[in-house]
Amino acid sequence: MTIDDLSEPGEECGVFGVYAPGQQASQLTYFGLFALQHRGQESAGMAVSNGETTMISKDMGLVTQVFDEQTLAALDGHLAIGHTRYSTTGSTVWNNAQPTYRQVGESAVALAHNGNLTNTLQLAEDLQLANVTDSELMLEAISREVDSTRSDGNGLAHAVLKSAPMFEGAFSLTIMDQGNLVALRDSHGFRPLCLGSLGDNGWVVASETAALDILGAEFIREIEPGEMIVINASGLKSYRPFTTTPDPKLCVFEFVYFARPDSHLLGRNIHASRQEMGRLLATESPVEADVVVPVPESGIPAAQGFAEVSRIHYADGLIKNRYVGRTFIEPSQMLRDRGIRMKLNPIPATLNGQRVVLVDDSIVRGSTTRQLVTMVREAGAAEIHLRISSPPYRWPCFYGMDTSDRSRLLAAERSVDEIREFLEVDSLAYLSIDGLMAAAGGGSFCNACLTGEYPTDVSAEAGKFVLEIS
Ligand code: SF4
Repeated sequence: MTIDDLSEPGEECGVFGVYAPGQQASQLTYFGLFALQHRGQESAGMAVSNGETTMISKDMGLVTQVFDEQTLAALDGHLAIGHTRYSTTGSTVWNNAQPTYRQVGESAVALAHNGNLTNTLQLAEDLQLANVTDSELMLEAISREVDSTRSDGNGLAHAVLKSAPMFEGAFSLTIMDQGNLVALRDSHGFRPLCLGSLGDNGWVVASETAALDILGAEFIREIEPGEMIVINASGLKSYRPFTTTPDPKLCVFEFVYFARPDSHLLGRNIHASRQEMGRLLATESPVEADVVVPVPESGIPAAQGFAEVSRIHYADGLIKNRYVGRTFIEPSQMLRDRGIRMKLNPIPATLNGQRVVLVDDSIVRGSTTRQLVTMVREAGAAEIHLRISSPPYRWPCFYGMDTSDRSRLLAAERSVDEIREFLEVDSLAYLSIDGLMAAAGGGSFCNACLTGEYPTDVSAEAGKFVLEIS
């Protein structure tokens, strides 16, 4: 998906939380968020408490742009949550940066969310609120249940236990007040969330294990679908706030694209899974060619796997500008017309006169894939055989990856051969659903964007979507 990423709509955030008595939680959160930067580059933020006061700091931009040593030093305390956000262009506003925050009597409640609720309209109606995000609605629901006069300090835990059954859809949350860190995962576990230990120094929760590694925290386990964890001065406790039986449906796109290659999910290394996708793709859809070329960087592990099984030479034929990230400077029309060249540049010496197998992890809209193919052709490729290490992306996601309306998905209404014609490649093949599931370890996953089989009732969200495009 690298080839589409700057033009892609999408929303996939990173959440973090730490309870570390005697430590500077803001520093730990900074490094945790730094490790989760790939999950959101739009804004970054953290809430930090020293047990009495809570401070919030958040802004648009990358973690390194939002925080410096001075800001972190001012955020004093041992308890913190953090968030990195990637949102659609329309909602790129400071107000949507997280954590969201509410003062409830003596309690200061902050919340960070990865995912999307599927009952946002209903919840807004129940709470009689308008023009607020699903994350703000959850914070509001929780805040209304907080009894800040409780003497046992468990007001937040009870509030989350009481309000959680109102939420439907995808939510991996970190929530805090002055004394408690709460982590909550919906009963399908669409979005990842894991628990790590700092030994005698406390606990960490994070979207991905890579955020534990950077802190030297020991991975303890994934927070289970439908589980709520409360960490405070008394230790760590686990609760089950939902009456429904957990039905694990981790997003399979975490394996395809979202998660960092060095993270582990369900006990599997993401990089190894992506290599396996490439191996299976080569077995399912072999082709005679001279060179296997990845679309960097997301296509690299699958291309390695493809080359290994096909015994076709692997070579770098495209170089990515590693510093392309998000920019707040609008490129001029002249530069925009250069499109893909802002991100990728071909190496003619690798491509010229060669039958090229071009490997990427996914195609969502396909407009830049077409530009990429033209670029490879202009660099002299004799043939281009495009291999995609996931099945065609045909359906919108309602669980946190905002793929906008279905009509913009390249594969929504096209056969593979029609897509091949559109992209002007000599051959095109996608990995099968069975191949993808096997490479991800054969668990129970959400794959609704590939199959149209949604694990939850999304009629309300789909209905809203129909209204939006009409
Ligand atoms: S619909 Fe697709 S992107 Fe969305 S959660 Fe399911 S697998 Fe992930």
